[in-house]
Amino acid sequence: MSTSVESFADLGLSETLLQTLTQIGYETPSPIQAQCIPVLLEGHDLIGMAQTGTGKTAAFALPLMEQIDVKLMKPQALILTPTRELAIQVAEALQTYAKNLPGFHVLPIYGGQSYTIQLKQLSRGAHVIVGTPGRVMDHLERKTLNLDNLKTMVLDEADEMLRMGFIDDVEWILERTPPKHQTALFSATMPEQIRRVAQKYLVEPREIKIKSATATVAAIRQVYWQVSGMHKLDALTRILEVEEDFDAAIIFVRTKTATVELADKLSARGYAAAALNGDLNQQMRERVIEQLKSGALDIVIATDVAARGIDVPRVSHVVNYDIPYDTEAYVHRIGRTGRAGRTGNAILFVAPREIRMLRTIERATRSPIAPLTLPSRADVTNKRVSDFKQKVVEVLNAEGLDFFSNIVSQIAEEQNVSAEEVAAALAMMAQEGKPLQIAGEDPRPAPAPRPGSFGESDRKPRFEERGDRPRFEDRGERPRREDRPARSAPAGDMVRYRIDVGRDHGVEVRDIVGAIANEAGIESRFIGRIGLYDESSTVELPAGMPGEASNALKRTRIRGVPINLRPDEGRPEGAGFGGGERKFSGERKFGGGDRKPEGDRGGFKKKKFGDR
Ligand code: AMP
Repeated sequence: MSTSVESFADLGLSETLLQTLTQIGYETPSPIQAQCIPVLLEGHDLIGMAQTGTGKTAAFALPLMEQIDVKLMKPQALILTPTRELAIQVAEALQTYAKNLPGFHVLPIYGGQSYTIQLKQLSRGAHVIVGTPGRVMDHLERKTLNLDNLKTMVLDEADEMLRMGFIDDVEWILERTPPKHQTALFSATMPEQIRRVAQKYLVEPREIKIKSATATVAAIRQVYWQVSGMHKLDALTRILEVEEDFDAAIIFVRTKTATVELADKLSARGYAAAALNGDLNQQMRERVIEQLKSGALDIVIATDVAARGIDVPRVSHVVNYDIPYDTEAYVHRIGRTGRAGRTGNAILFVAPREIRMLRTIERATRSPIAPLTLPSRADVTNKRVSDFKQKVVEVLNAEGLDFFSNIVSQIAEEQNVSAEEVAAALAMMAQEGKPLQIAGEDPRPAPAPRPGSFGESDRKPRFEERGDRPRFEDRGERPRREDRPARSAPAGDMVRYRIDVGRDHGVEVRDIVGAIANEAGIESRFIGRIGLYDESSTVELPAGMPGEASNALKRTRIRGVPINLRPDEGRPEGAGFGGGERKFSGERKFGGGDRKPEGDRGGFKKKKFGDR
């Protein structure tokens, strides 16, 4: 790890939070946490350049929680996030960290969720609000959200908010927050507009950037699997099963709890596996390492700290089950394989949201990490069959088969079947709970990630399961953004709507897609053609939109302007007002789409209106 801070206790956090961190299995602070927490606790404004996977949520959440007066049931911290998914995840993280703070309340508010529920929750009171800009703006305007007691404001993934067209909304909110509060801005990149916002609204901010020191890695085969369509544990066992030259593995996870859980699950699946974490005393730790050396154990599941310095030549594989916080940790982890002149293999699991971290690691280590295709069911079956054959051959070469040959002959004779059939029955019996043919479906392969693309983390947000949101889309089965096919015409009936924002308002297609996706919970791939006009726009949405989603959209604002969504009567802008020629551009840039508005299939032609 790249920081000299070994313990959360060195950062100035309260006993209560330290106790919580121990309970949830956090061993050491990640580099961004080690640097941000003391600065935020001192009350400074902060610019943190960090991406998902670095532990940035705890970096701002823990100090923020130290400032909350639980007795005061008023919003004291506001966290803005670009998407509802992130709002839910951040809220959930805070709720986890608050397990020893009775009465602490965090509320996620985002577009698409019923206003009635939100108003009820807001009136009940919350200490921390985590929300998407559009909905927060809305509540501020309606005066259903009051920020008079605000102590901390966090802009999370500021560059994503910019990319999704929310930056004006963010500024609108910043303008309306009381002057005396601490502000922390987190962003993976620092485009000019974000810098400008930081300069305008942050006071003498400290800037913290996790440097990705370049490092050379030994000749180790490095591959990654983009987590999608299958549980990580199933993927892990499939991969381990077919990996060539597998001898022993160290699997890295983030928390002590996860080491134990994964060790238990792998043991249940027949692997000789054990956990290695900071809770083990030196003697126990040495015992585990000895067992790995001797072959009594094949898999050790470890945290970074616990695996430090392990030198076991038979470790043929390192699996980064949870992505490391930074490149230094990555280099350290994979250095546990390929020792004593042997070949090493490093496998990295990357959730869609963590693709940026993958690219950072590649850049810093100056070595490309190749995508790994998950072994198919057929691959696993073939491997099991070939291992089985190998075992049979070994037994065939052994002495003393006569007794058993006799039994086979007897069964064949008594049952009037061939010796082959008896052998088949025996082979079936020999599977011993591990069938040669594995059941289940093969997941769809994840498409190559787009740089700068975003998706959801593999964490399953608890709030989502409460069912208090419109089921316009089946969110449970929702594919990750990266899984989605390139934009094509959505299947099913579409209805065309008109909205009161257009190019004259500075609106772009991506703003419309971003707002609709967030406010109505409609995946962007289900949003049809968008026609961008001067003063208004049209957008096609799936027929049968539930009332809640359509109400949410009626109240939605884009760039501060109420969009007033309504079915389009087919009267194009300008019609009836003297007509005239208007240019419109309907190209959908968001998400790689390339759609033209109806009637403009030939490209950016002039369209004559008013002649219906
Ligand atoms: P984030 O980058 O904030 O999205 O965090 C990524 C993941 O790392 C989350 O699952 C956190 O629970 C986990 N995490 C954050 N900090 C730590 C830590 N110090 N020790 C172990 N896990 C952590």
